[in-house]
Amino acid sequence: MNRKHRKKRKLHQQKFLPLDEEEKAPEQEKTPPAKEQPVKDATKYQDNLKLPAKPTIINNILIANKQHPLPQSYAPGESKEARAAFEAMRTEALKAKIDLTAFSTYRDFARQKVLYDGYVAKDGQQAADRYSARPGYSEHQTGLAFDIGETGQEQHWASATFGDTKGGKWLMENAHRYGFILRYPQGAEKITGYMHESWHYRYVGKEVAADIYAKGVTLEEYLDVH
Ligand SMILES: [Zn+2]
Repeated sequence: MNRKHRKKRKLHQQKFLPLDEEEKAPEQEKTPPAKEQPVKDATKYQDNLKLPAKPTIINNILIANKQHPLPQSYAPGESKEARAAFEAMRTEALKAKIDLTAFSTYRDFARQKVLYDGYVAKDGQQAADRYSARPGYSEHQTGLAFDIGETGQEQHWASATFGDTKGGKWLMENAHRYGFILRYPQGAEKITGYMHESWHYRYVGKEVAADIYAKGVTLEEYLDVH
């Protein structure tokens, strides 16, 4: 978001440069213009990146994305702590007549491979890479990712429409109090590597989730790995 702002400001300055400033411009040519850093694109996989021997953990927070894959053998199962937090959240949501369900949580390497290969066969690799992770790169392999929907609202499961439902909105406002963050927010595809997924939540613990929520940043920005 900051980057966008800066870019906007720059354009604005160029557009409304006063004439006397423009006349001074040749002087500046003596010093070569600073090379702009290319914006990293987290949607792209690195060529020849091998799966590591250990997962990446920064400040006690595990990160899995297209730049930080997991070992093929990393198979922790669904996190008990995350499940307990989800159940507590579910109990509170029920009071607002929202019946949350986690329709997909832990997926091991082999399962992700079957899913991804199926998507590639159906939509081609480029399209599949936008909405599905290659095996070893899925956050679902960490046991900390919960795809959440509502029972009886199956038509909104894993759909952009979930964000506009009562349940989707409730989660956006409350999930952090239970330790979950909206992992792939709107407009952050170049940072997280994925298009907006209103249903995909990641357990990071209450303290970190509250901090990330208050700062309005992605996990990548929070851990400074973007
Ligand atoms: Zn997911």
